[in-house]
Amino acid sequence: MVLATAVFGAEPAIAEPPGAVQMTDEPECPTRLNCRFIPAAYAQTDPSRPAAYGNYHKADRPRDGDDIRYIVIHDTEERYDRAIARFQDPHTGVSTHYLIRSSDGEITQLVHTKDIAHQAGNYWFNMHSIGIEHEGVLAEGARWYTEAMYQSSARLVRYLAARYHIPLDRDHILGHEEVPGTTPAGVAAMHYDPGPYWDWAHYFDLLGAPLRGASSEGLAVPAAHVADPPMLTIAPRFATNTEPLRNCTAEGCTDLPSQGSNVVYLRTEPHADAALVGDPALHPDGSPGTTRIADWSASAVAGQSFVVAERRGKWTAIWFGGRLAWLESRMSALEHGALVTPRPGRSAIPVYGTAYPEAAAYPATVPVTTVVALQYTIPAGQVYLGVEPHRGDYYYATFDRGDVADHRTLVVGNRRFVEISFNHRRAFVDADDVVIEDY
Ligand SMILES: [Zn+2]
Repeated sequence: MVLATAVFGAEPAIAEPPGAVQMTDEPECPTRLNCRFIPAAYAQTDPSRPAAYGNYHKADRPRDGDDIRYIVIHDTEERYDRAIARFQDPHTGVSTHYLIRSSDGEITQLVHTKDIAHQAGNYWFNMHSIGIEHEGVLAEGARWYTEAMYQSSARLVRYLAARYHIPLDRDHILGHEEVPGTTPAGVAAMHYDPGPYWDWAHYFDLLGAPLRGASSEGLAVPAAHVADPPMLTIAPRFATNTEPLRNCTAEGCTDLPSQGSNVVYLRTEPHADAALVGDPALHPDGSPGTTRIADWSASAVAGQSFVVAERRGKWTAIWFGGRLAWLESRMSALEHGALVTPRPGRSAIPVYGTAYPEAAAYPATVPVTTVVALQYTIPAGQVYLGVEPHRGDYYYATFDRGDVADHRTLVVGNRRFVEISFNHRRAFVDADDVVIEDY
């Protein structure tokens, strides 16, 4: 599912006819894939307001300094042809670089990879990612996520990863459900596709980069083989991991049919009857998480990595979303990485959903977009897995009829951020708030 960014959302105004869109573009696809190019809308929706236009920003990634670091995996929640029509309507404010058909894996490219599609619901991630939509309805599981679709998608991702030097791992190949909200108010509305029935382990096998611990046996490395504190990767065996899930709509809630999934539930205590952990965005009253498919409070997804806080019998506790959360040890494999923990002397540190520059870095011509602390903190003593610090950045664009680079500015600040695997989603902490230790 795509979500308009808060900054450049759809505008309820009269559409201009699309401008000079190119109708004959060659798709950017590997050879021997069934691939075509149909341009998404690029048009103003209110000519008096330069910021009111859809459905993407023209850019020149990565040559203009805005590097492509991620690929974001989505599903459409609607039919292939309807999705294409939506991306061609500039009032929707949304787009994707690619869309893949369920029945046969056909690929439609709608936005050039050098441009910024409005797909992840978080403009910082849009700046740095390529979005791939998959025709499907996430609650209907494997009925939509066909082998033809997985194979086509994986070949496309291998091609894009090689072209843009994107590592084939779960820090860089993300589900939309792993993209954080940009403000506390936005967190609960963030999309949760492609959902529990997307087989990440199979997908990474097709990418030629199998997930650690996600072999056909799905067995964890024995804990005795590692020093303290080890890290783990969520590694359920998809086919036999039939965790309960419920789907709730306006008509009520139903239990979804038992089927393989990527979900591992996290509990407040080390036993199977313990409550699921809650989340302050989805359960502000402090109530526990649930097995509703839309409730990502207590679910970790195949391939995500966390730091082990404690082990007790067959159970392992990890730091997750600012709290201790327990999972069955057999659902994970041990891992190595960079440990990120609050700097000594700090009782708790803020957590962010974006990594924009400090206000002083913006030139007068670019409106300042600030980093807002989310409704989470990381208390002293908790440890998360992170990737190396990077300077905050922001890509500013205005409507551009003539493909003129003057309409674009990349702002890079001095404030540095560390991206972490935080809960069900990614997050950022200020590099000055933490110490980082390779393990
Ligand atoms: Zn999505």
